[in-house]
Amino acid sequence: MSDKDKLSDEEVALFGKCGIFCGACDGHLGEAKSLAKRMYDIMESLNFDDVGFFFLRTDPESVELFKKVLTNFINSRNCRGCAIDGNPTCPIKICAMEKGFVTCAECEFLEECIYPSKPNNWNLTSKEDFFKIISIRYNNWNLNNLKEIKKNGYRKFLDKIVEKVKKGFRTGNVISKEKVFRKALEKMHR
Ligand code: SF4
Ligand code: SF4
Repeated sequence: MSDKDKLSDEEVALFGKCGIFCGACDGHLGEAKSLAKRMYDIMESLNFDDVGFFFLRTDPESVELFKKVLTNFINSRNCRGCAIDGNPTCPIKICAMEKGFVTCAECEFLEECIYPSKPNNWNLTSKEDFFKIISIRYNNWNLNNLKEIKKNGYRKFLDKIVEKVKKGFRTGNVISKEKVFRKALEKMHR
């Protein structure tokens, strides 16, 4: 029996359908955005465009490119979580939302989705493949979260993970170095 009625709309949005907790992600917390602004301001105050080469042996084109990346961070919008701002083409999200679930932990077909009989074809439109891709990227953290939600309910899970985030936990602590989305995109364009 799901206890999702104990969650506010903002809290619901922070649950990735696939088990990611968006409240621990920098896309939501915006720490990189603040740091990028600080970095950009420091570079401007030093007129780094003029002296980059002497400071760090960095050519003006690389400085420009770096500033462009910083600007993209600065102008990015803080994500409000999977249910509101999450990838609208994600097949897991589409499927779970159609069923009215806060996460896939509520679904009777969860096992079939996360342990499918067919191999992973890196197809970004298949919910089974997407589950595999996400689970590699997050080192199965999402799957463990779904299991925990199933066992203890949303409220308990949320209260515990919010405390963990306050103590410094970030999704970056569990994200693997594998380039899974690059691999999926390469396969798609082959
Ligand atoms: S958009 Fe898809 S991959 Fe992203 S958190 Fe939501 S369900 Fe997970
Ligand atoms: S069928 Fe799969 S993707 Fe859809 S809600 Fe169930 S577990 Fe999630």
